[in-house]
Amino acid sequence: MASTTDPSQSTFRVRSGQVPCLTKPSTSGVTARAAGAPERKFRMAIVPETLWSPGQTLKVYFYSNDLTPQKNQWIKDTASDWTNWANIKFDFVNNLPADIRVSFNAKGGNNSQIGIRARNVPADQPTMNLDPEGMTGADPDYERMTVLHEFGHALGADHEQQSPSGGIRWNPPKVYEKYAKIGWKKEDVDMWVLSYSAENTEATPLDGLSVMMYTVGPDETLDGWSSTTNSRLSQWDRQWIARHYPSNDIPICPETDCASTSWNGGRDGAAYWQDNSGCILEAKLTGDKWVTTDGIVGYAKWGSPLAAINWDEGKQIRVYAISDENQVVEFSYVPSPHHWGYKVLRDPAPPIRSDPMFSTHPKSRLAAICWYDGGDVTKPVNIRVYAQRKLNRILPPPRRL
Ligand SMILES: [Zn+2]
Repeated sequence: MASTTDPSQSTFRVRSGQVPCLTKPSTSGVTARAAGAPERKFRMAIVPETLWSPGQTLKVYFYSNDLTPQKNQWIKDTASDWTNWANIKFDFVNNLPADIRVSFNAKGGNNSQIGIRARNVPADQPTMNLDPEGMTGADPDYERMTVLHEFGHALGADHEQQSPSGGIRWNPPKVYEKYAKIGWKKEDVDMWVLSYSAENTEATPLDGLSVMMYTVGPDETLDGWSSTTNSRLSQWDRQWIARHYPSNDIPICPETDCASTSWNGGRDGAAYWQDNSGCILEAKLTGDKWVTTDGIVGYAKWGSPLAAINWDEGKQIRVYAISDENQVVEFSYVPSPHHWGYKVLRDPAPPIRSDPMFSTHPKSRLAAICWYDGGDVTKPVNIRVYAQRKLNRILPPPRRL
């Protein structure tokens, strides 16, 4: 929460394009980012020790405020988007005690305790502040991001740009210049923007679309990388919350594709789909029964298209999907020992020489077929995989002359 050392006490005001939040993570283990950070491997920052228990219902209390009842309800509905993806619930209560206590102090900036660190705050004091001056309806995307961002902290997420394994290639003079305009000193910027938490933070690829990401202008980085106002939970945000608040029932990705392949005259077969964290799962048909196989086939981007083929009566299976990088990946079943191999497919004639992999359009579908030469099972098998290439453009309709 705000304290005398918290720069959010300064002239910080909520405005699009400025720092949306200054939470107060633990300062222990905060280390200056090494100069010449490694190649960008962006991963979301999570503080596992601060997670609540999966399945828990968290009581959330709003202190009285000048916002309209509709606005209060909108904030509750918006925050609850996190709980659509995971086994954790919010119960908005009208009286204390509560696990998460939200004040609306115009001088308090936007901030939140991270996860169960809220328990360290005296029970009659807020664990989160939302600045009502930023909730006027002037910038709905920004308001949405602020609410999701602060409730992300409340569930255990740290700042995305401070992810330890990643390297935003910061251009520090420009970053200092930007934050100086809102009253931050150099050491504030070092601590809250350019540093990362080296302690107890789980690394996932840094996600420029995450609601936990600060807005980063292209002039603030050496390579022009930037991040704008992210007002929706990104794929990684949803995967993060699903993975860290798991359910006994494996949640199926609501946008999952389904692929199937059969053999033995259709009496045996396999089907593939995705769970809520992007893992591809398998069920097999043997006789009259479908049985879910143990383990996972592999990982693909959330809502990836899927295709499956088999030959040699199901002894050889290939499953195709699209990765987070929008490349076609192949999972090959090896029966003995039972495991799934993985490789990224190369494009036989890449349109860009520097990109030899089969990079697809983000909305590409997938299809795959296989056949023996001349139908002779003693001959090698042929496989073709079809997807829309990255550079393909949908052509405008022909003009009537
Ligand atoms: Zn924050």
